[in-house]
Formats: sequence, C-alpha cells, structure tokens
Amino acid sequence: MRPRFLLDGMLGSLSRWLRMGGYNTEYLKDTPDDDLIETANRESRILLTRDEALVHRARKRGIEVIYIKNESDEDALRQLNTQLGLEYDPTQARCPKCNNTVDKVRKEEVDDKVPDGTYKVIDDYWVCPHCGSIYWRGSHWPRIVETLSGAGRG
Ligand SMILES: [Zn+2]
Repeated sequence: MRPRFLLDGMLGSLSRWLRMGGYNTEYLKDTPDDDLIETANRESRILLTRDEALVHRARKRGIEVIYIKNESDEDALRQLNTQLGLEYDPTQARCPKCNNTVDKVRKEEVDDKVPDGTYKVIDDYWVCPHCGSIYWRGSHWPRIVETLSGAGRG
C-alpha cells in the first residue's frame, strides 16, 4: 500500500510536490504538536517534519515520523525516495491545493473556464471535485516531470 503523509507547518511546498507525485498528503499549519500526533495516529499517516522536538515527541508515542533534513524540496523528495522507496508518478497527481484526487473531464466542460490560448492548444483537462481547480499539462509540465523523476523514478 502506498504510504500516506501528514506534514507540519514548515513543509507547505513539499506537501504540494508529494501530491503532484501521487501521494495522499495532508498538510496542517498552525497546529499544536499533540494534534499533529493525534491526526497521524488516527489516519495512519507518516508524520514529516523539520522540528526535532516534534520528532522525539512523536517517536515516544509510537508514531512513524521522519525528520526532513534538507532545505530544498527536491532534496527532501530524494531523502524520502532513499528512506521509504517513494517513486513519484506525476500521471497519478492529486490536487496540489487540497489533496483530493482529480477527475479527467471532457474538453468542452472547461471551455469558458480556461484562457482561450490554452484551450486552443491543450486537449486534456482534469478538475478537482473538492476545490474546483482545473489542471492541464502546460509549459510548466516538463519541469514538474523532470523534478519528480529526478528525485525518484516512477
Ligand atoms: Zn482541490
């Protein structure tokens, strides 16, 4: 089974990368340590943090927790590839904003919702049923694929 994650306040951008790599990733900011530990336990999520005190507290309570050593998201993704064997697959991307799975939709359904220039050249669209965000593989897509596959081949 693919691991699920809970990230604390310092790891907002890493949470978006993990979601784009296909991992179910909850992100809670401004949340007390006890609540983070409780949520990780209840939802069977691995806790990721850059806070050493939280690492110790979580370990004491028997929670699986990983201390993120690196400042850059790319290095953190590589660390998780090494420690947990994570492989990132951008074709399985979840909504980076809210972690929901996205649905492929017919092009006509987003006709009036995406820029004309985009609509003319892009045929495939996905919509997040939770937050309504629309996604397509635009000019940013190759860099996302490159970053994720460089950090852990899917
Ligand atoms: Zn969403």
